[in-house]
Amino acid sequence: MALLIRNGRIITATDDHIADVYCAGETITRIERGLDPKALPGDPKQLEVIDAAGKYVFPGFIDPHVHIYLPFMGTWAIDDYESASKAALAGGTTTLIEMICPGPKDQPWEAYQEWLSKARGIASVDFSYHMSVVRYEPEIRGQFLRIVKDGVGSFKVFLAYKGALNLNDADLFALMEQARKWGVIVTAHCENADAVAAMQEILVSSGRTGPEWHGPSRPPVVEADGVHHLCAFAELTGAHVYTVHTSCDIAVKEALAARLRGVNVWIESVIPHFVLDESYAERANFEGAQYVMSPPLRQKGNQDVLWNGVKTRTISTIATDHAPFTLEQKNMGRSAFTRIPNGIPSIQERVDLVHTYGVTRGRLGLQTMVNACSTQAAMLFGMYPKKGTIQVGSDADLVVYDPEWQGTFQKADSHSKADYNAYEGWTKQGRASVVTVRGQVQVRDGKFVGTRGTGQFVAREPTHG
Ligand SMILES: [Zn+2]
Repeated sequence: MALLIRNGRIITATDDHIADVYCAGETITRIERGLDPKALPGDPKQLEVIDAAGKYVFPGFIDPHVHIYLPFMGTWAIDDYESASKAALAGGTTTLIEMICPGPKDQPWEAYQEWLSKARGIASVDFSYHMSVVRYEPEIRGQFLRIVKDGVGSFKVFLAYKGALNLNDADLFALMEQARKWGVIVTAHCENADAVAAMQEILVSSGRTGPEWHGPSRPPVVEADGVHHLCAFAELTGAHVYTVHTSCDIAVKEALAARLRGVNVWIESVIPHFVLDESYAERANFEGAQYVMSPPLRQKGNQDVLWNGVKTRTISTIATDHAPFTLEQKNMGRSAFTRIPNGIPSIQERVDLVHTYGVTRGRLGLQTMVNACSTQAAMLFGMYPKKGTIQVGSDADLVVYDPEWQGTFQKADSHSKADYNAYEGWTKQGRASVVTVRGQVQVRDGKFVGTRGTGQFVAREPTHG
């Protein structure tokens, strides 16, 4: 099946122009004005023509920070690749990078195979992984090279989650030395694990156990300390690093200070931190549990820093940290906030939130939206220009976006299995009308019409040598 998208306003991280996009098979093959369908090769009956007049044509959006299969805090995140793919695609995301999160006793290669088995043949979105390194004894190090060679060109480390997922400093240093030699970027959850554990103990032991205490247990300085630590090790080893879900002013400034010293550090922030503040986690009757994630939601003033960071392209990416848990699962933390599974499901809402609360409010332009929600992830993680832009030879991952569509965010429309929507009832301006993955239409008029199992693993070379 060939695809012709006519008269759309094509928007990439650098361009903004009206033209037709023609895709033969899985690839974009022509971008021109006034392409005549009758003059195109092949059977006209095998050509789908989409009228995009008055609409934007974006490259498929990329979410570089997603959890789908996630054993965590005594339970499992509730989505699977079927529900998460639908949610991603309905929201215009055509490629996602999931975190492989093994336990501290698991073998890395086996964990990688386990995660692959959850996606292959089920996903309808294209997918890739960051490999979490939660142990790094000398005898298992060879497994990481095998995983990198198989196409997983990025690592994830946790400075948080003491005793469960965090590496000690000796292993962190050794890993970063190795990552630099392999050209593998190290993504990192930056919160000081010891400080968080100590703060949790103080709060819980004095009876401060509600979800409103989650934020105070890990204040901004805990995150800034983590960013500083990561950047110090990056400076010493020469490794390239990427701070995931950077949530606040002082953490962003730590990364920028390191960048000015010459450290190769890139900054990711995630959509909940742009639009939700700490007051949501303080909601009464345990409702705040729906808004517990780490780093926690912050004081509202940090939101301007994040939007302006994206506008000036000092913050590279807007991801989600999609980690869906049901209200019943959140209830595991009734006795203490330390047992509330962390996460705010957002994979379906991300792009529309950025459009509604970023672009239409004048906080950033359309090209910057594409840059932060697609192009930068493709460039940093070795998928560009196959993904992340609209040019001849790129994958035909396209989002025809109707900026005039108006509605609200609501649970009734969401594909995630989480049984609440953190943005329920909020105004939504714009939505994806047609979404394609490698030329196949997966969404029409905002509805998922795709096929289970058509998503492909995107093998990525290390690109930070
Ligand atoms: Zn995460």
